[in-house]
Formats: sequence, C-alpha cells, structure tokens
Amino acid sequence: MKTPKERSTEIVIYRGVKEEEQSSSLKNKSQLNTGRTKSIHPPIETHWQLPPQEESKSSNSGFKSMMSYPFKFRDSLKKIRRTKSLQLVLEGAHDPKDEQLVESFRKLLFVDGHLLGKHNDYHTLLRFLRMRDFDLSKSKEMFLNYLKWREDFEVDTISKEFKFEEYSEVKKYYPHGYHGIDRYGRPVYIERIGMVDLNSLLQVTRIDRFVKYHVSEQEKTLNLRYPSCSIAAKSHIASTTSILDVNGVGISNFSKPARYLFTEIQRIDSNYYPETLNKLFIINAGPGFRMLWKAIKTFLDARTMAKIQVLGFNYISQLLEVIDPSHLPTFLGGNCTCSDYGGCLLSDKGPWNNPDIIEKLQAVSATEHAYEDAENGGVALEDAFMQNMRPEESERVVSSKYSDKFAVRKTRALMEVALEDTKIKIEALEAALGDTKMILERLAQQIQEVFEL
Ligand SMILES: [Zn+2]
Repeated sequence: MKTPKERSTEIVIYRGVKEEEQSSSLKNKSQLNTGRTKSIHPPIETHWQLPPQEESKSSNSGFKSMMSYPFKFRDSLKKIRRTKSLQLVLEGAHDPKDEQLVESFRKLLFVDGHLLGKHNDYHTLLRFLRMRDFDLSKSKEMFLNYLKWREDFEVDTISKEFKFEEYSEVKKYYPHGYHGIDRYGRPVYIERIGMVDLNSLLQVTRIDRFVKYHVSEQEKTLNLRYPSCSIAAKSHIASTTSILDVNGVGISNFSKPARYLFTEIQRIDSNYYPETLNKLFIINAGPGFRMLWKAIKTFLDARTMAKIQVLGFNYISQLLEVIDPSHLPTFLGGNCTCSDYGGCLLSDKGPWNNPDIIEKLQAVSATEHAYEDAENGGVALEDAFMQNMRPEESERVVSSKYSDKFAVRKTRALMEVALEDTKIKIEALEAALGDTKMILERLAQQIQEVFEL
C-alpha cells in the first residue's frame, strides 16, 4: 500500500512518446500533483538563444568610422571580436529573469560573508537555483554544502593531480565512457551497467579511488567537455545526454558494495553537479530491471524522473532521433567502432579532443585571466608582464615552445585588455556625443518654438 505522499512523487515512464507530448503530459501531471512535486524547468540550454550580432550597428556609427586604426590594431580588434564571440558562445545569452535571480542570489551569498572566488559564475549559481526551484535560501544551503564539499574532498587538487592509472583495467570491468555528441551538440555518456563485474573491478581499483575518478570526470565535463561542445556547436552547451544499458541487470547485481558505490555516485551527482543531465535513456530494460526500477524511482526526485526514458530492447529509433549513427557505437545500433582506440568506450571521442578547439579555449582562458588581473588592479597586470620579462623566465620561454606560445598569448591578452579599455572609452565618448547632439537638437527646437520661426 502506498501513502498518498508517495503517490504524489510518482511519474509515469514514457515509451516512444514524442518529446512535446511528453512534456505537455508531464506539465498536466505536475499541475495535478500538489506538495512535493517540483516544477519541471525547460532544458538548460533551450532559452539561451544567442542575441543578434551588434557588430554592424557599431561599425556604421559615425565617430568610430572616423577613427582610423593602424592595420595591426585593426587586426587585433578583429581578434578581440573573435575571442568575444567565442566568449559569447561559451557564456550563452542570459535570460533577463534568470539574471536577476542569479544577481540576488550572489548578493545574498556576498552579504552573508561567503566569498565565492571562482565558483561565483552565472551558470554554476543558476544550476543550484534551478535545482531548488529558485528558492533562495534552499539554494544557498545547497550551494554552501557544495563549497564545503569541494574543500573537504579537495576537488581542485583531484582534478589537477589525481592519476587513475587503472583506467583501462577499470573500463574492462565497468564499461562506460563519453562518446561523441548528440544532434544538439551535447556530450553523450554511455554506461553498460549490466556488464559490470564488481569483484574484478574491486581487484583493480578501490571504491574511494573510483569515486575520485568519477569526480575528476565530472570536473572535466564542466571545464572542458561543455566548453568544447559549445565552440563546436556555436551554441551554449551545458548538459549531457546519457545512455544506460541495463541489459542483464536484476536484483542480483546489487550486492552491498555495488549499492554503496552507486548511491555514493548518485549522491555526489545530485548534490554537487545538479542540472547537468539533459536526458537519460535506459535501454534494454527487461523484466529484472523493471522490478528493480520500481524501487529505484521512489528515491528519485520528479525533476530527474522527467528526464528519464525507460526503453525495452527496441530502443534504436529513439536513440537515432537524438544521436547521429556516426556518434553511436555499433553495439547500440550506430556505426562507430573506434577501432583505433580499442573500442568506443575507451576513445573518449568528442570536440574536447579537437586540437583547434582546445587552442581556442586556451586563448579565451588566457584573455579571461588577463581581464581578471586587470580587474585586480594594474599592479598585478604589470607583475604578470614583468614575470615574462625576467631573465630566467625568458630563458625558459626560449627553451620551451609551449611557454613561448603562452608568453605570446599572454602579451597579446594584455594588449587586448588595453585595446578593450580604449574601445570602452571611445564608446563612452560616442554616447556623450550622442547626448550632446540630442540636447542641441532639443534646444534648437525650443528656440524655434519660442521665436516661432
Ligand atoms: Zn566510437
């Protein structure tokens, strides 16, 4: 017997229902439900359309066209625009309503004395707000837990230093991995949970190491996979499409250590990496899994449930609707084998391995750092510049091609900051000129009226 409370959190599983029908029936469902059911927000990217480019408007304006930059400067401006448009793609256009809420959230955290540092960014805050239905105090609690966990678990150190040497061994006993992108450009993550051999897995790694590896992968997704996908798709990407192959899964797969491992990973993902799942396809769901699913879904919140589609053995057409066959392994009905890498789940193929995209990302990040330095005061900026000029530093620069490239990029970034500053001043001048012109026109009109000319 179910209590009414339990019934209210339940959401039906959709099989082969089109996305619009699904979301509309979900809407009806959540309207009917009261109490604990959370509202379902649209996918994290959909309302972030890129705003129209304003370049043509500014290049037509009189004052600027009168300014003739030397050719080199004009080239640099082009580069800034390129970097700027990349930044725009990476950042996505902000919904004004969301922006206001994020700003209130940021102020609340700031007033309470929580200096946020690098986790202050718009999208991180928005994810926590969405997860808590834009309830500021609940979001705050969740966000502060997240910051504390990052510190306690030493997430930054893990993502920088953790080496998972047992990677390829682990993949044998726990087949999983990122593989390509969906039709929208989001990374695709595949896990074949029915093929997990936990006993062998625990002989090649430990649970705590596996959890660390999982966290480092989550960080890589946020910091590298999403930005790379955004550049490749020329649109802001911030979530993952996942496929969970449950072929052969039943109650027997869930021994005590297995339960511990999966709940631990689920806990980390839902508390500290909220709102990063676009859609989860559970495929090859046989009777064994469906029994288990009944138990699992009582622990999942409505928001997660709405993103899950449980499919039987005829799942291919649904997958092909969202993923091109070239990005789908043959074992899922696609035509990719990644034979050069020993299989699709070992290749980690995707835009995040494209050297051109990585170079672009590095350029944007170098510029961002220079902006940050500039914001922290000119001294830091000069310091950074001087560091590149020190003899021992310049020796290293000469000896290493990479550092050389970095120094050039840094210098260029510094120049871009200076140029950007000039550009802002010019824009301010233009605005002032515009105002003056308006005042003069109004004055002329008034004179005309007074003297009835
Ligand atoms: Zn492949």
